[in-house]
Amino acid sequence: MLHAVSKRDRLLIVGAGPVGLGMADALRKRGLAYDHVDANDAVGGNWLRGIYKGVHIVSSKRSTAFADYPMPDHYPDFPSQEQMRLYLEIFARDRGIMSGIEFGRTVVRAQPLADESWRVRFDDGEEREYKGVVVCNGHHWDKRYPEYPGSFTGTLIHSKDYEDSKQLCGKRVLVIGGGNSGCDLACDAARVGTSCDLSLRSGYWFLPKTAFGKPLTDIPIWGLPVFMQRLFLRALVWAVIGDYRRYGLQRPTHKLFARHPAYGTDLLNYLRQGRIKPRPDIERFAGKKVHFTDGTVAEYDMIVAATGFHNCFPFLPKGLVPVENEVVHVYAGAFPDAVKNLYVVGWAQPRNGFGSLLTPATRLYAEMIALQDEMELPIGYILKWRGFKAPSTNLVNPTAARRMMWFAHRVLPLLRRRSRILAEKEIREPFDPSLYTFESEAPKPTVAVT
Ligand SMILES: Cc1cc2nc3c(=O)[nH]c(=O)nc-3n(C[C@H](O)[C@H](O)[C@H](O)COP(=O)(O)OP(=O)(O)OC[C@H]3O[C@@H](n4cnc5c(N)ncnc54)[C@H](O)[C@@H]3O)c2cc1C
Repeated sequence: MLHAVSKRDRLLIVGAGPVGLGMADALRKRGLAYDHVDANDAVGGNWLRGIYKGVHIVSSKRSTAFADYPMPDHYPDFPSQEQMRLYLEIFARDRGIMSGIEFGRTVVRAQPLADESWRVRFDDGEEREYKGVVVCNGHHWDKRYPEYPGSFTGTLIHSKDYEDSKQLCGKRVLVIGGGNSGCDLACDAARVGTSCDLSLRSGYWFLPKTAFGKPLTDIPIWGLPVFMQRLFLRALVWAVIGDYRRYGLQRPTHKLFARHPAYGTDLLNYLRQGRIKPRPDIERFAGKKVHFTDGTVAEYDMIVAATGFHNCFPFLPKGLVPVENEVVHVYAGAFPDAVKNLYVVGWAQPRNGFGSLLTPATRLYAEMIALQDEMELPIGYILKWRGFKAPSTNLVNPTAARRMMWFAHRVLPLLRRRSRILAEKEIREPFDPSLYTFESEAPKPTVAVT
């Protein structure tokens, strides 16, 4: 076996999507040394590869841009996938982080060692040892499928497999799921397919993309307490859309923001035009037929499961970073309690675009990572000891999160003191890497091979 190259003076950032780029910028500004790899052949993550053609962001350019790097003035309010890719590329060049990225490098294994430094293996077999690993591998690539009895003999794809509307031409299409991808796909199918039905298990909050001539994510309600945001948005929905049941949809039984809302009213227009037919949940499949829970049956050529993704870290030892119901059990959004020098960033979903939250979050994380160097115990461990709770949802309230970050900057020095006190008490067992093993060699991420 080849010797692992020692890079113990630096961190490794895995992923050069928006989050990996944001982390690289923050570490560089903080003066922390790092290497940076991505399985793809260029920057952009999802916006480079893995998102269907014709997609535009649903959050505005203002709320999606890095807080300290606005998108160009000539960009529309809701830029396209290609504009997003280009923006991220220019950001990486301008900030001097592009030249340091090694492309076409897939991390297949990251193993903590007894001293809580990390041995990383790449897909070509090369091994390197790093001080720590910053995981920014994205959360939109490990497809989640719904499970129903029976089998469907037509074509079944996931929204991740959808590239453009040619795939839907002349087909009787059933889309499952009413999130933003489900809505886009159903509208495409309504345009080019023979027919399009949309099956929803429960009610969704569909919000208009704009209000008062502005993108919804730009109107100044997002700093208000959540109950006021809810009140405002419910009033807006009542005035602009009305009762969802008038469109043949179910009323949502969950509170607004308990799940990700869908932005845009195209779907509602198509429902009104009869070009999309609403269906309830599926009971079972039988050949090309689909039986729904209301007793109706229909035949389809293609089903598109727009049913989301799993949060997944296939290159980490099993159980090291627990994930339950898509919620990653790390403290302060990034710090596992079991081990030092591992940072898991970007797995949560901000309510608006990623930018307004990502920039302050990466700055805070860079400070915390620098602090970790001076501390014996993992930051996640100390936070847990201090009574911090692991998150219970992967949806982030940006206003509350920014407030927490402001507060965190002020109390950071206390962490160092707390670490010293806890270390003196010798409460934590020495880290035992043999507790964390791999089941098998990790597969390549799907985003890297499309
Ligand atoms: C259809 C769709 C619409 C969306 N619309 C919006 C929107 O309007 N606004 C918004 O804010 N967000 C939107 N998103 C969310 C989108 O995922 C985020 O904008 C953003 O791309 C997340 O950034 P990321 O860096 O965490 O992940 P990604 O963009 O997925 O980047 C992860 C990177 O990590 C690399 N990687 C993964 N595993 C490895 C490995 N083992 N080794 C090396 N490299 C690896 C991948 O190659 C990839 O480049 C949308 C997502 C989808 C699917």
